[in-house]
Amino acid sequence: MIADNLRRVRQKIVEAAARAGRDPNQVKLVAVTKTILPEKIYPVLREGIYDLGENRAQELAKKYSQLPLEVNWHFIGHLQTNKVRKIIKMVKLFHSLDRWSLAVEIDKRARQNNIIADVLLQVNVSGEETKFGLVPEEVKDFASEAAGLSGIRVRGLMTMAPYADNPEEVRPVFRNLRLLANNVRGKIPGVAMDMLSMGMTNDYEVAVEEGATIVRIGTAIFGERAG
Ligand SMILES: *Cc1c(COP(=O)(O)O)cnc(C)c1O
Repeated sequence: MIADNLRRVRQKIVEAAARAGRDPNQVKLVAVTKTILPEKIYPVLREGIYDLGENRAQELAKKYSQLPLEVNWHFIGHLQTNKVRKIIKMVKLFHSLDRWSLAVEIDKRARQNNIIADVLLQVNVSGEETKFGLVPEEVKDFASEAAGLSGIRVRGLMTMAPYADNPEEVRPVFRNLRLLANNVRGKIPGVAMDMLSMGMTNDYEVAVEEGATIVRIGTAIFGERAG
């Protein structure tokens, strides 16, 4: 069941990339495993997906100890500064850097561990009040400042679109994130801006058409989450 779901998602990514004239290999699928137990995650690993996303530090740390070391863990949720220390060595990519105090904390903990943390800046493109993230206008300055932190490497941008019954409605959100990244790319030494994390179960095909290099998908793979 899970393997079938996964194949369907991968096929749709291939088709969406084709519609946009993109190479599907440029789109990384992160399977979002929040609330999902390890026994249901193994089928995904068996299909060769080793990029997994969690939105809570506690749960990520637990699964880090339960699942193979080869897993690349993506932190995709709102991160409290006091949780950074616990997970800094476990996380391959932080998708949700949304404020300066968090940048300072990730930088500090990364340097203490002699690593450089790869991060994406979360942007609130739609302006929804309930969403975390930088406002688009502050992204460039934030990235410039963050480039001065030696424990952090800004790789790109992440956004969450508002829920829409018709995903076409949120196409401008994804397009604007891509344009924002284009605007910053090449202008700040050390800031690659080569990653765009956008697209979830409801809207990933549109996101891929608009240039997503990472999609974060839970429900379409594992089914509806309890609770
Ligand atoms: C839960 C979550 C997802 C996955 O959502 P689905 O709709 O289940 O695919 C993606 N990104 C973030 C930040 C999430 O919290």
